[in-house]
Amino acid sequence: MTPDDSALSPVCPAAGDRRMRDGAQLKFFYGPMDCGKSTLALQMNYNHARQGRRGLMLTRYDRSLGARVTSRIGLSREAIEVTDELDLRALVRRHWAAGSRVDYLICDEACFYTVDQIEQLVDLVDVHDVDVYAFGLATDFRSELFPGARRLLELADEVSRLQVEVLCWCGREGQLNGRVVGGRLTREGEQVVIGDTAPDDGEIHYQVLCRRHYRAGDLGPRV
Ligand SMILES: [Zn+2]
Repeated sequence: MTPDDSALSPVCPAAGDRRMRDGAQLKFFYGPMDCGKSTLALQMNYNHARQGRRGLMLTRYDRSLGARVTSRIGLSREAIEVTDELDLRALVRRHWAAGSRVDYLICDEACFYTVDQIEQLVDLVDVHDVDVYAFGLATDFRSELFPGARRLLELADEVSRLQVEVLCWCGREGQLNGRVVGGRLTREGEQVVIGDTAPDDGEIHYQVLCRRHYRAGDLGPRV
C-alpha cells in the first residue's frame, strides 16, 4: 500500500446496480491447465461490460508473461499484474478516487494470489459490494492445493469446477497438472515455476493427466 492510500475514501462513490441485487458475490472457477479458464474470464468480462458494468481485470503469471489475460484460443486483453505487495482494496479505492466505477473484478490465475489478497477480495465483496469472479488452478504439480486456491475454496460463495474435456493421453478426464522436467514427471521443486503445456516449450513443461497416470508417473507413449 502506498502512503497516501490511507487517505482514500473507503466508500464507493457510485452505487451501480446494487439495488437490483442481493449483494455482491465471490465466485471461484477452477480446473486443470488448458480447461479454458482464461477464455471464460475474458467472456465474463465481455458479458458484464456489455450490460454497462465497469470492472477491472487482474492476473498473475499470465502465459504471455505480461500484464494481459491471454487465452489459448487467441483472445487477449490488457490486465493489471498482481504482485505480492499489491493491496487489492487500495487498488479499487484508487480507481474510485479517480472517479472510475468498479462494479466487479475478474481475477485470472487467482491461485497465485497470496492468502492476504484473497481476504482482501472477500472484503471487497462483503464491505464494498464489488463482485469478484476468480479463475485458477486448484492444485499444483504435487497435486496439493495452492494456498490462494485453498482460501478461495474455503470462502467463496460459489465454487465451480470447469471441465472442458481436457483429456489425459489415455482418454480419461484430465484432473492433475503434472510437471515434466527432462521428459519425466517430477514431484519436487518450487511450487510455482512458469511453463506452458507445449512439450517443446523448454526444459520444464506441464502435462494434464488423469489421477491414475499422474500417480503412476506415466506420461504416455511419445508422439
Ligand atoms: Zn490417464
